[in-house]
Amino acid sequence: MSNKTLIRLAICHNKYILILFLSFCETLTTSGRIVILGSGWAGFKLMRELNKEDYNVSVVSPRNYFVFTPLLASTSVGTLEFRCITEPVRGYSKDIDFMQARCDRIDIGTKFTLDYDKLVIGVGSYSNTFGIPGVKEYGHFLKDVNDARRIRKRVIECFEYASQSGLTSKQKEDRLHFVVVGGGPTGIEFSAELYDFIASDMSRLYPDLMSKTRMTLYDVAPHILGSFDTNLSDYAHKKFNRKGIQIKTQRHVEKVESDHLVIRDEGNVPYGLLVWSTGLMQNPLVKSLENVVMDTKKQRILTDSKLRVIDETTQQPYPNVYALGDCATIKDNDLPATAQVFNKMVVHGSDMEANCFEFKNRGMMAYIGSSEALVDMSSVHQLAKKSGHLPWLLWRSAYFSMSMSLRNRMLIPYHWFLTWCFGRDISRF
Ligand SMILES: Cc1cc2nc3c(=O)[nH]c(=O)nc-3n(C[C@H](O)[C@H](O)[C@H](O)COP(=O)(O)OP(=O)(O)OC[C@H]3O[C@@H](n4cnc5c(N)ncnc54)[C@H](O)[C@@H]3O)c2cc1C
Repeated sequence: MSNKTLIRLAICHNKYILILFLSFCETLTTSGRIVILGSGWAGFKLMRELNKEDYNVSVVSPRNYFVFTPLLASTSVGTLEFRCITEPVRGYSKDIDFMQARCDRIDIGTKFTLDYDKLVIGVGSYSNTFGIPGVKEYGHFLKDVNDARRIRKRVIECFEYASQSGLTSKQKEDRLHFVVVGGGPTGIEFSAELYDFIASDMSRLYPDLMSKTRMTLYDVAPHILGSFDTNLSDYAHKKFNRKGIQIKTQRHVEKVESDHLVIRDEGNVPYGLLVWSTGLMQNPLVKSLENVVMDTKKQRILTDSKLRVIDETTQQPYPNVYALGDCATIKDNDLPATAQVFNKMVVHGSDMEANCFEFKNRGMMAYIGSSEALVDMSSVHQLAKKSGHLPWLLWRSAYFSMSMSLRNRMLIPYHWFLTWCFGRDISRF
């Protein structure tokens, strides 16, 4: 089988970017070489699962680590440290080549031939701003450890600023207004972690500022956690209300400025920190693909059941180009953009094409603060819907056991224990 692929890469080298064309046919002499684009859930999991004796694996990604996203919100307030949830890609195995680079174009065209080569596109997606002015400039996303680091710094900055003398009460209140836009699992989990941080640590360190601190969560939908069972989302809603977190649904953010949001029918709302978590949009690399079938919303690459990318002209799958993760979905079997789609990985043994991808929905979990969580496993068992402290233990143990390395399985409980004993670290750097 031959496949004709040209990949253009932007190599990230600290502060500058060098664009180069890489012809894999010059460098790839071994048959069975797989090039994986991305080191997220899709790329990293695939890289681990592949039989290195059958494939010569190369990973290309602008970041040289994997992020265990389910615990990302915990790092944004210091419940866990950043390194508890990252795994380095380089050095993971001596059988894997890693290149820190961003692929900015794939030309499934006619210039180069890569015999027996396979390309896997797992570049994920970007946070969706819906084109609302100012979101990109002033909002904080929560997709990567760098985002979590910036959020953590900003929260502490807001408290330090508000503790200065000479400020009016209104100035303090404005700076200590923490706003989250998006009532999906990420927005809710971040709000819950932030609430814990403020209630258990900041209240001890800045007791005078507690009466001036508030949190608001906005969503355009009528309910938060729309993908969960209604009883569970109502439970979360009530819990948030009781904690003093205001939930404002059916609100449209029209514009974001450096220190306030403009909300339809509400006007200007000052904020100190804005976390934006309203879903996903297409990675520019995916947008740039030509002659590839996309799903109806034109957001994700459509693949056949074996995850092969489909040629738009012939409507047949390309023999050696695959796509998986948030950037792709399967024809007639729409996959959610979640990490759990990788529970049952596609590759068993050496023959990728012999296996069809199967997704088994194992349910959903969300942390809602104060050591409580929601677990909705109604897809597995009708009665498996729970909220409270027991589900929180399940939530913690599930993510602890899913974490990728022994090192992180030791670090995670160690940091949970440190936080429990001494509180979260509020050093700002
Ligand atoms: C805060 C948060 C919490 C979450 N919690 C859960 C949860 O509890 N359960 C769950 O199932 N799911 C959860 N998810 C969703 C889950 O993280 C995603 O579904 C998953 O990360 C998708 O994996 P992916 O590999 O497709 O993309 P990603 O993990 O986003 O990885 C994309 C990779 O591609 C790289 N890349 C990007 N552009 C290029 C390019 N041009 N060239 C080369 N490489 C590129 C990136 O650097 C990255 O390494 C959560 C997500 C977030 C943000």
